[in-house]
Formats: sequence, structure tokens, C-alpha cells
Amino acid sequence: MSRIDLPSLASAAQDEVARQMSICNACRYCEGLCAVFPAMELRRVFEGPDTDYLANLCHNCGACYYDCQYAPPHEFAVNVPQALAELREESYARYAWPGFMAPVFERNGVWIALAAGLSVALFILGFALWSDPGALTASGNFYAVMPHNAMVAVFAPAFLFPLVAIALSLVRFWRLTGPTPGLTFAALRQATRDAATLRYLDGGGMGCMTQSERPDTWRRRFHHLTFYGFLLCFASTSSGTIMHYVLDWPAPYAWWTPPKLFGVPGGLGLVIGAAGLIWYDRARDGRLRPAKQTGMGAAFTWTLLALGATGLALYWLRETPAMGVLLAVHLGTVFAFFITMPYGKFVHGLYRYAALVRHAYEQKRAHP
Ligand code: SF4
Ligand code: SF4
Repeated sequence: MSRIDLPSLASAAQDEVARQMSICNACRYCEGLCAVFPAMELRRVFEGPDTDYLANLCHNCGACYYDCQYAPPHEFAVNVPQALAELREESYARYAWPGFMAPVFERNGVWIALAAGLSVALFILGFALWSDPGALTASGNFYAVMPHNAMVAVFAPAFLFPLVAIALSLVRFWRLTGPTPGLTFAALRQATRDAATLRYLDGGGMGCMTQSERPDTWRRRFHHLTFYGFLLCFASTSSGTIMHYVLDWPAPYAWWTPPKLFGVPGGLGLVIGAAGLIWYDRARDGRLRPAKQTGMGAAFTWTLLALGATGLALYWLRETPAMGVLLAVHLGTVFAFFITMPYGKFVHGLYRYAALVRHAYEQKRAHP
């Protein structure tokens, strides 16, 4: 009797991950490398949402590809990092809210971020030239270039809409990847620790694989610098907002105040970390990347680098006549970052954290 091939409801990328996971589930050689393999072992079949969950659990260290006896040219053609990376990028679009926005950033991320940043920078420069050209060189006085209320009117919606969009996307991802009755604080704590230490970005203890097939820890270090640099920059902006609105203490702020104490090391972390990731990524084995390149990751890393670099330049040159132009460029970069947040690589950290929470939850239930 001939076999009847039923049409798959999953995407081609989900089908490919399901195929490779079925082989891995029989092999299990890599089970000690990261969270993906223990999560896989709890499943017998891999539905679409299961594969999305596993894709977001993978940190693309590359270890399982170099360890695999079924990697190409073997006929099984197992390349787990590439299959998961391809599906991961696809999954961001699948869960994005509103869905029609996601494809806009899939191929043109760098140009959209650049165009948005330049538009806002030119708008601010035009605004200052029209209202008071002297304000552009009024060293140190940011609000002479653009009044505080005008800044809030432009940036509050640009920040709040992405927050809502990201929250709704995460809820979709969480719901579709399955229920978690009895989720405990211990699982959340475990996931937070794993995320904060990038536990699974170490290739089972050796580090990430490089093109020379020698693992090292530089990708993890650059990732840490970028992540904590970003958090410090966020703390800097938040503390400035509190000082302005709650303490009635407007900018400019001295070097010993929280906006500066958080902002300067945060900016340095962002610049060194993002530049390091760009450099490191160029030297990585192309076989670990998605076959279909979208530019999404590059747009995000370059935007982070621009964010840190323009922020630091503004800090060091704020007392010079270059202040106005630098402020406009920095605010344009911030705007570009905000609007691309829900539809670009920014979401990878949030989906990965959600996947780590699910992983901690499943493991605690499977091994109480
Ligand atoms: S990646 Fe290869 S070696 Fe590792 S579990 Fe899968 S099939 Fe086995
Ligand atoms: S690439 Fe690294 S994190 Fe991803 S599945 Fe393989 S071993 Fe795990």
C-alpha cells in the first residue's frame, strides 16, 4: 500500500527542524552541550510551536555542528545550528504584532534604521535652525536645541508603541508554545540566572566555535558587554527621567550623578561589545548562519554601536559648537532604535528568556 503524504501545516523551516530533531532524538550524542537537547528529549513529535521554542533556546554556539557525525556530506545532512537559526528569524515574524509589519524589516533592516535615524536628525536640525540657529552651538544646553516637551512628544510614542507591540508578541509566543500550569518562582529564578550568565553560549564548556574550528569565549564576552552596556544606558535614561520629573532637577547633569555614572560605562560597553560582535561575526563559519540572510542581526548590532558611539561623542563634546549636530544625530539614532525594536533582532533576547523560563519549568517538572 502506498504511503499517503499529508500536507504539513508547518513551515519548511519548522519541518526541517522537526526532521533533524527526530535524528538527534535517536542519537542523543549532544545532550550535555546545551538546553536544546534535554528539551528535545522530553518530546517524541515536534509540532510547529515546539520547533519555534527549541529554535529560541539555541544560542548558536556551533558545538553540535562540529561534533555531529551526521553533518554534511553525510546523507542525513544534520546542521542543527543553521536549521535553528533560520527558524529563529522566521519565528520573530510569525509572532510579531501587528503581523503585517514584520516583513518590512526582514530584508531591509539596515536601510530602514538608517533612513529613520537620518530623518529624525534632519527634523531636529531643521527645527533648531527655524526656531533659533544659535541654539545649535549653545554648548551643553540640549533643551535650547529641542525643548524638553517637544522631545517627549516625539520620543514617548516612539518608545511606548514598541513596548506594547513587543508585549503582545511575547504573549502570542508564550501561549502558542504551550501551557505552563504551576509555573514556579524557582523556574523564573533559574531562567534569569541562565540568561544573565549566558550559560548556554559556552558550547558545553569550551566556548563558541570559530572558523578555525577552535572554540573561544570572545563571543560570550562581547555579548555580555553589549547586554550589560545596554542595561546601564537604560538605567542612565531612566534615572535622568526620574530626576527631571520627580526631583525637579533638569539636565545638564554633573559627572557624579546617576545619568552619567550609568551612561558612560554603559556607552563604552555598547561600543566595545557591539563592535566586537560585528568583528567576531565576520570571522564565523558561514555554515552556522541561516542560509537565507536577512540583515536583521547586522541592523541591530550596527544600531547598538551607533547608539553607544553617538551618546559618548555627545557626552565628550557637549561643551563645543558641535553639540547641536551631535544631539540631533544621537536622538535620530535613539528614534531608529525604538521603532525597529519590535520587528528586528532586539526581540531575540526576550524570546530567548521566555524559552529559558519554559525550559526551566519543564526540567523541574521532569526531574523534581
Ligand atoms: S547534532 Fe548530530 S551528533 Fe548531535 S545529537 Fe544531533 S545527530 Fe547526534
Ligand atoms: S548550536 Fe550550541 S546552543 Fe545551539 S543547539 Fe547546538 S550546541 Fe546547542
